Amino acid sequence: MMKLINSLWFKRRDIVSDGFDESLEYISKIIPLKIHKTSTGTKCWTWVVPEKWSVNEAYIEDLNGKRVLDLKDHPLHIMSYSLPIDKIVSKKELFQHLHTNAERPDAIPFEFKYYQRDWGFCIQNNKLKEFTKENYKVFIDSKFEKGSLKVGDYTIKGKTDKTIVLVAHLCHPGQVNDDLTGVAVLVDIAKELAKKKNYYTYKFLFVPETIGSIAYLSQNEDIIPKIEYGIFLEMLGNDNIHALQLSRQGDTRLDKIARYVMKRKLENFNEGAFRTIVANDEIAFNGPGVDIPMISISRYPYSEYHTSDDNLDIISKQRLEQSKNLILEILDIIDKDFTPKRNFKGPIFLSGHGLWVDWRENMELNQNLEKIMLNLEGDKTVFDIAEELNMKFDDVFNFINKLKELKLVK
Ligand SMILES: [Zn+2]
Repeated sequence: MMKLINSLWFKRRDIVSDGFDESLEYISKIIPLKIHKTSTGTKCWTWVVPEKWSVNEAYIEDLNGKRVLDLKDHPLHIMSYSLPIDKIVSKKELFQHLHTNAERPDAIPFEFKYYQRDWGFCIQNNKLKEFTKENYKVFIDSKFEKGSLKVGDYTIKGKTDKTIVLVAHLCHPGQVNDDLTGVAVLVDIAKELAKKKNYYTYKFLFVPETIGSIAYLSQNEDIIPKIEYGIFLEMLGNDNIHALQLSRQGDTRLDKIARYVMKRKLENFNEGAFRTIVANDEIAFNGPGVDIPMISISRYPYSEYHTSDDNLDIISKQRLEQSKNLILEILDIIDKDFTPKRNFKGPIFLSGHGLWVDWRENMELNQNLEKIMLNLEGDKTVFDIAEELNMKFDDVFNFINKLKELKLVK
């Protein structure tokens, strides 16, 4: 995970750009990606795919040729999708195109105008005082051209066509936590699931934010009915507790399993309704006319958000591992879960079938054997029973599986 992040973080990963494509290529060497391309100008529901954007050089100089800002120093120094310009402007005009973040005066903010036509630079608030001259030369050598928006797709076929989609966005040049951490965790989860036999089909999507999800869904509408659940991953490396944002439905099996795992595994976490913690591509997946329940797992908020301070210093490998294990556990439960229905009458003769559990071995299970037995009417899943009895999922699962092997439940 750290190697991927190190290799990609400083790249110019604008939404439709060479840097984005190169980043997908990098990932496709780790897991085989199918690349979905949608050309510039393609109508995607109410949206239109933007042009490819690139920038060669950008700077601000005073009229003596002294550079006060140079894109070479940091990819965030230019507003993404800035128009080209080569002009002498007054300081007043220049300041209308300079973006800063007063709350983090030493950081360069991340700004973008993908769908408006404008030019702009981003700069540390503390540097504004260095602009003492009346006029400045502004130079941006950027290019808009026809291209194609790309979405990377890795699909692991399961026993069923029913699909769980996991999504992270790969855009945002020069930043780490938002959202290369989500991308890195996604890649690692994909590698883990590829080793297993799964019930669900898993689809991993690497998109440019918002438009990537809209382009993918609108051009692949046939897949929508097959997707049962979605998980959006982002900002998983910073030093904050996890935040679980529920799906629009709010009470699906995935919502409940995610909450259950977080309660059991974490000391502390935040929980909020749909769109109340962090806004991302769940608005496309879980939005009008699509409505796939999509939860979001992040460690939002963090104060370095959308600035040059969102760099390698604020993330840790341990936190990425912790998030990855959390999500793997959620997926493990949802994948194994099933609805047992009893074939027996009366209480089960436990010791006669080798099913009795010694309290010295597992007190929790020992004390709940009867309660499990009383919940096998076919209206609850294994997870529902574990949640209701506040038990470890695997204990309940393994016990009911034994009943299944003995044909006591179907
Ligand atoms: Zn962002």
